[in-house]
Amino acid sequence: MTRPKILILGAGYGGLITSKSLEKLLKSGEADVTLINKHDYHYLTTQLIKTGAGTAADRQIAISIPELINSDKTHFLKAAVSSVDIENQEVHLEGGNTIPYDYLLIALGFEVDTYGIPGVKENAFQIRSFRSSKAIYHHIIKQFNLYKEDSDPSRLTFVVAGGGFTGIEMLGELADGLPNLCKQYDIPFEKVRIIAVEAAPSVIPFFPKQSIQYATFVLEKRNIELLTGRKMLECTPEKIRLENNIDIPTRTLIWSCGVKGNTIVQNWGLPIEKGKIPVDACLRVKNMNNVFSIGDCSLFMKDEKNALPPTAQVALQQAPICAKNIVATLRGETLKPFEYHHKGSVASIGLMAAVGKVGNFRLSGLFGAFMKQVIEARYLFNLGGPALIIKQHFGVSREPV
Ligand code: FAD
Repeated sequence: MTRPKILILGAGYGGLITSKSLEKLLKSGEADVTLINKHDYHYLTTQLIKTGAGTAADRQIAISIPELINSDKTHFLKAAVSSVDIENQEVHLEGGNTIPYDYLLIALGFEVDTYGIPGVKENAFQIRSFRSSKAIYHHIIKQFNLYKEDSDPSRLTFVVAGGGFTGIEMLGELADGLPNLCKQYDIPFEKVRIIAVEAAPSVIPFFPKQSIQYATFVLEKRNIELLTGRKMLECTPEKIRLENNIDIPTRTLIWSCGVKGNTIVQNWGLPIEKGKIPVDACLRVKNMNNVFSIGDCSLFMKDEKNALPPTAQVALQQAPICAKNIVATLRGETLKPFEYHHKGSVASIGLMAAVGKVGNFRLSGLFGAFMKQVIEARYLFNLGGPALIIKQHFGVSREPV
């Protein structure tokens, strides 16, 4: 008898942790597990801001997938998924290959939402993947080089659109990273402008008042210009336009205004709600018994009106339950409903400050920054034990790569 085939699409937080949970749950020879991902590395999406600003080495952010999985239990395939044929239970890959499945997990993550603002899709940089973040850093270096030739101030004007969680993290990393580049290129830091554009009246508007005040204080202290209460209307390669005809000459707009589910899943004959794949309480795609979806490409309703947010925290909590439910389906056992427990959120503002809440404790300052490091280290520990933390986290320089 052939073994059942479990196929996992995407090795982000959701897909990778599901495959690692399956390694523990499945008995030897019970099923064949294949993990498919576009690249042969897993990147720490929550740390991509550092790749963008050049404040972390590549090896701290991108980790080889074959090193993270047990190749006796999980087969890894580096390939880009182009479509899924639900009726015939097969996945089509770019290049023409087809992979059959009995049980499928779709964990293909997010895409950046540009809300149709003219020029943003074409000209703005996105913190979406390791490659797109690396492109930000390469572009910044190019601007420093070109500034040495033409002294055009727009080359040293770096704008982050969106003063939310990711936006302030990106601003903090730029404030950490750009002074080093100034030294390297012998350019006074005073020539650099770091600007935040946010439509809401403040940065991190959904945080408590004290956190907003603290984040504002830290960002301003680091000479970041906060243009809050201003909507961005347009972006060209040389400038951005805000409401009231305010133009800011810049060659670098980093777009950080929101995400949506990966649009690739839209035409696969799956149910789609709010651009995502709706799942039931057990993380199965609605009305399907052998197709699961977790993380940012899925829609899990926590009550009648509200969906869970697209966060790593959600994907990481869903993954082990999803693995259990795939195994339960395969064995004909009862499935377990997923319950989300919010543990808090902490946004870093560079290496030395952070703001947020863990449990009932409001965090800020250096202690907040320390807790952010602890959260990241905990993930690495779960992924590859202390050896991975040592390799990825400590003892490695923050010099740009
Ligand atoms: P992803 O992590 O996006 O993984 C999807 C995987 O699928 C990727 O490996 C991708 O390469 C692969 N893939 C995509 N398309 C294809 C294809 N066609 N074929 C093959 N492979 C494909 N959340 C928090 O909880 N806390 C934080 O502090 C936090 N900080 C963040 C900071 C930043 C800068 C960003 C961008 C996000 C942050 N988030 C945070 C959100 C969090 O990163 C996401 O919610 C999380 O990555 C979702 O996990 P996922 O597994 O659904 O998708």
